Amino acid sequence: MTISHHPPDELLADFATGRLDEADHLVVAVHVAQCPACRRFAGAMEHLAGAALEETAPVAMKADAFAAIMAKLDEPQPAPRADVPPPSALPDEDLPEILRRCRFGKQRRVAPGLKLQPIILPSAKQSRAFLLWSAPGARMLQHSHSGTELTCVLKGSFSHEAGRYGPGDFDFGDGDVDHQPVVGPEEPCLCLVAMTGDLELHGLLGRLISPFVRL
Ligand SMILES: [Zn+2]
Repeated sequence: MTISHHPPDELLADFATGRLDEADHLVVAVHVAQCPACRRFAGAMEHLAGAALEETAPVAMKADAFAAIMAKLDEPQPAPRADVPPPSALPDEDLPEILRRCRFGKQRRVAPGLKLQPIILPSAKQSRAFLLWSAPGARMLQHSHSGTELTCVLKGSFSHEAGRYGPGDFDFGDGDVDHQPVVGPEEPCLCLVAMTGDLELHGLLGRLISPFVRL
Protein backbone atom coordinates (compact mmCIF):
# COMPACT_ATOMS: atom_id res chain seq x y z
CA MET A 1 0.00 0.00 0.00
CA THR A 2 1.40 3.40 -0.99
CA ILE A 3 -0.02 6.22 1.10
CA SER A 4 0.39 9.70 -0.40
CA HIS A 5 -2.13 11.84 1.52
CA HIS A 6 -1.88 12.37 5.29
CA PRO A 7 -3.80 14.33 7.97
CA PRO A 8 -2.64 17.93 8.56
CA ASP A 9 0.00 18.16 11.36
CA GLU A 10 -2.38 20.08 13.64
CA LEU A 11 -4.99 17.32 13.39
CA LEU A 12 -2.38 14.63 14.11
CA ALA A 13 -1.17 16.58 17.16
CA ASP A 14 -4.75 16.82 18.48
CA PHE A 15 -5.15 13.08 17.82
CA ALA A 16 -1.96 12.22 19.71
CA THR A 17 -2.93 14.33 22.72
CA GLY A 18 -6.50 13.00 22.85
CA ARG A 19 -8.26 16.24 21.89
CA LEU A 20 -10.32 15.00 18.94
CA ASP A 21 -14.01 14.17 19.07
CA GLU A 22 -14.64 10.40 18.97
CA ALA A 23 -15.65 10.18 15.28
CA ASP A 24 -12.68 12.29 14.09
CA HIS A 25 -10.38 10.26 16.36
CA LEU A 26 -11.59 7.01 14.77
CA VAL A 27 -10.84 8.14 11.20
CA VAL A 28 -7.35 9.43 12.10
CA ALA A 29 -6.69 6.21 14.08
CA VAL A 30 -7.54 4.05 11.04
CA HIS A 31 -5.09 6.06 8.89
CA VAL A 32 -2.34 6.09 11.56
CA ALA A 33 -2.61 2.29 12.01
CA GLN A 34 -1.63 1.92 8.32
CA CYS A 35 0.87 4.78 8.03
CA PRO A 36 4.35 4.45 9.61
CA ALA A 37 5.18 8.16 9.01
CA CYS A 38 2.09 9.38 10.89
CA ARG A 39 2.65 6.78 13.64
CA ARG A 40 6.14 8.21 14.20
CA PHE A 41 4.80 11.78 14.24
CA ALA A 42 1.94 10.92 16.64
CA GLY A 43 4.37 8.98 18.88
CA ALA A 44 6.70 11.99 19.05
CA MET A 45 3.78 14.29 19.93
CA GLU A 46 2.65 11.93 22.71
CA HIS A 47 6.20 11.88 24.05
CA LEU A 48 6.39 15.71 24.03
CA ALA A 49 3.01 16.01 25.75
CA GLY A 50 4.13 13.48 28.40
CA ALA A 51 7.38 15.38 29.00
CA ALA A 52 5.46 18.67 29.36
CA LEU A 53 3.19 17.02 31.94
CA GLU A 54 6.18 15.79 33.95
CA GLU A 55 7.54 19.33 34.14
CA THR A 56 4.25 20.71 35.47
CA ALA A 57 4.44 21.52 39.20
CA PRO A 58 2.33 19.08 41.26
CA VAL A 59 -0.90 20.45 42.74
CA ALA A 60 -1.88 19.48 46.29
CA MET A 61 -5.05 17.33 46.42
CA LYS A 62 -7.82 17.82 48.94
CA ALA A 63 -7.50 15.58 52.00
CA ASP A 64 -10.72 13.68 51.15
CA ALA A 65 -10.00 13.28 47.41
CA PHE A 66 -9.27 9.53 47.64
CA ALA A 67 -12.45 8.81 49.61
CA ALA A 68 -14.48 10.90 47.13
CA ILE A 69 -13.14 8.91 44.15
CA MET A 70 -13.85 5.57 45.88
CA ALA A 71 -17.41 6.72 46.69
CA LYS A 72 -17.91 7.69 43.03
CA LEU A 73 -16.76 4.21 41.91
CA ASP A 74 -19.35 2.63 44.25
CA GLU A 75 -22.22 4.58 42.69
CA PRO A 76 -24.64 2.42 40.63
CA GLN A 77 -24.03 2.59 36.87
CA PRO A 78 -26.83 4.10 34.74
CA ALA A 79 -28.99 1.56 32.88
CA PRO A 80 -28.30 1.25 29.11
CA ARG A 81 -30.32 3.79 27.11
CA ALA A 82 -33.41 2.31 25.52
CA ASP A 83 -33.32 4.68 22.52
CA VAL A 84 -29.98 3.38 21.16
CA PRO A 85 -30.81 1.24 18.11
CA PRO A 86 -29.61 -2.36 18.21
CA PRO A 87 -26.44 -2.85 16.19
CA SER A 88 -26.81 -4.48 12.80
CA ALA A 89 -24.34 -7.02 11.47
CA LEU A 90 -20.80 -6.01 10.67
CA PRO A 91 -20.61 -5.07 6.96
CA ASP A 92 -19.37 -7.88 4.75
CA GLU A 93 -16.03 -6.19 4.09
CA ASP A 94 -12.41 -6.74 5.03
CA LEU A 95 -12.36 -3.92 7.61
CA PRO A 96 -9.36 -2.75 9.66
CA GLU A 97 -9.17 -4.21 13.18
CA ILE A 98 -10.26 -0.93 14.86
CA LEU A 99 -13.49 -0.88 12.85
CA ARG A 100 -14.30 -4.55 13.47
CA ARG A 101 -14.66 -3.63 17.16
CA CYS A 102 -17.25 -0.88 16.40
CA ARG A 103 -21.04 -1.10 16.53
CA PHE A 104 -22.82 -0.32 13.28
CA GLY A 105 -26.27 1.10 12.56
CA LYS A 106 -28.49 0.17 9.66
CA GLN A 107 -27.12 0.46 6.12
CA ARG A 108 -29.16 2.75 3.84
CA ARG A 109 -29.09 4.14 0.32
CA VAL A 110 -28.72 7.93 0.26
CA ALA A 111 -28.60 8.59 -3.50
CA PRO A 112 -28.18 6.51 -6.68
CA GLY A 113 -24.85 4.63 -6.39
CA LEU A 114 -24.28 5.84 -2.82
CA LYS A 115 -24.97 3.94 0.42
CA LEU A 116 -24.08 4.68 3.98
CA GLN A 117 -23.82 2.80 7.27
CA PRO A 118 -23.51 4.81 10.50
CA ILE A 119 -21.08 3.80 13.23
CA ILE A 120 -22.53 4.05 16.73
CA LEU A 121 -20.19 6.14 18.89
CA PRO A 122 -21.80 6.97 22.25
CA SER A 123 -19.19 9.61 23.21
CA ALA A 124 -19.17 11.54 19.91
CA LYS A 125 -20.26 15.11 20.57
CA GLN A 126 -20.17 17.10 17.34
CA SER A 127 -18.97 14.71 14.67
CA ARG A 128 -20.57 11.55 13.30
CA ALA A 129 -18.86 8.63 11.58
CA PHE A 130 -20.08 6.35 8.83
CA LEU A 131 -18.94 3.99 6.11
CA LEU A 132 -19.71 5.25 2.61
CA TRP A 133 -19.86 3.06 -0.49
CA SER A 134 -19.83 4.73 -3.92
CA ALA A 135 -20.32 2.98 -7.25
CA PRO A 136 -17.32 2.71 -9.64
CA GLY A 137 -17.04 5.80 -11.84
CA ALA A 138 -19.63 7.74 -9.80
CA ARG A 139 -19.27 11.49 -9.99
CA MET A 140 -20.19 13.15 -6.72
CA LEU A 141 -21.92 16.52 -6.86
CA GLN A 142 -19.81 19.65 -6.50
CA HIS A 143 -19.87 20.37 -2.77
CA SER A 144 -18.25 22.16 0.14
CA HIS A 145 -18.75 21.75 3.89
CA SER A 146 -20.29 23.82 6.63
CA GLY A 147 -18.11 21.88 9.10
CA THR A 148 -15.23 19.43 8.59
CA GLU A 149 -15.05 16.14 6.70
CA LEU A 150 -12.32 13.60 7.48
CA THR A 151 -12.05 10.66 5.09
CA CYS A 152 -9.87 7.56 5.06
CA VAL A 153 -10.10 5.33 1.97
CA LEU A 154 -10.54 1.64 2.84
CA LYS A 155 -11.04 0.20 -0.67
CA GLY A 156 -11.09 1.49 -4.26
CA SER A 157 -10.23 5.12 -4.99
CA PHE A 158 -11.50 8.59 -5.78
CA SER A 159 -9.91 11.68 -7.30
CA HIS A 160 -10.50 15.40 -7.06
CA GLU A 161 -8.53 18.60 -7.63
CA ALA A 162 -5.92 17.65 -4.97
CA GLY A 163 -5.07 14.26 -6.56
CA ARG A 164 -5.95 10.57 -6.40
CA TYR A 165 -6.84 8.93 -3.08
CA GLY A 166 -6.39 5.13 -2.70
CA PRO A 167 -6.47 2.71 0.25
CA GLY A 168 -5.00 4.28 3.42
CA ASP A 169 -5.05 7.82 2.02
CA PHE A 170 -6.53 10.56 4.20
CA ASP A 171 -8.51 13.55 2.94
CA PHE A 172 -9.40 16.61 5.01
CA GLY A 173 -12.16 18.97 3.87
CA ASP A 174 -13.65 22.06 5.48
CA GLY A 175 -15.52 25.20 4.44
CA ASP A 176 -12.55 26.35 2.32
CA VAL A 177 -12.61 23.22 0.15
CA ASP A 178 -15.04 23.04 -2.75
CA HIS A 179 -14.63 19.85 -4.72
CA GLN A 180 -16.24 17.25 -6.95
CA PRO A 181 -14.76 13.79 -6.26
CA VAL A 182 -14.94 11.15 -8.99
CA VAL A 183 -14.81 7.48 -7.94
CA GLY A 184 -12.19 5.32 -9.70
CA PRO A 185 -13.60 2.95 -12.36
CA GLU A 186 -11.90 -0.22 -11.00
CA GLU A 187 -14.27 -1.16 -8.13
CA PRO A 188 -16.71 0.40 -5.64
CA CYS A 189 -15.01 2.87 -3.31
CA LEU A 190 -15.41 2.29 0.45
CA CYS A 191 -14.48 5.16 2.75
CA LEU A 192 -14.63 5.81 6.46
CA VAL A 193 -15.89 9.37 6.99
CA ALA A 194 -16.30 11.65 10.01
CA MET A 195 -18.37 14.77 9.49
CA THR A 196 -19.48 17.80 11.43
CA GLY A 197 -22.05 20.19 9.97
CA ASP A 198 -23.60 19.48 6.56
CA LEU A 199 -22.61 19.01 2.96
CA GLU A 200 -23.41 22.06 0.86
CA LEU A 201 -24.28 20.99 -2.67
CA HIS A 202 -23.77 23.43 -5.53
CA GLY A 203 -25.27 23.92 -8.96
CA LEU A 204 -28.87 23.49 -10.06
CA LEU A 205 -28.90 19.70 -9.61
CA GLY A 206 -27.29 20.05 -6.20
CA ARG A 207 -29.94 22.50 -5.08
CA LEU A 208 -32.66 20.23 -6.44
CA ILE A 209 -31.53 17.03 -4.75
CA SER A 210 -29.89 18.36 -1.57
CA PRO A 211 -33.15 18.10 0.44
CA PHE A 212 -33.07 14.35 -0.32
CA VAL A 213 -29.39 13.66 0.37
CA ARG A 214 -28.91 13.18 4.09
CA LEU A 215 -25.45 12.09 5.20
ZN1 LIG B 1 0.04 9.29 7.27
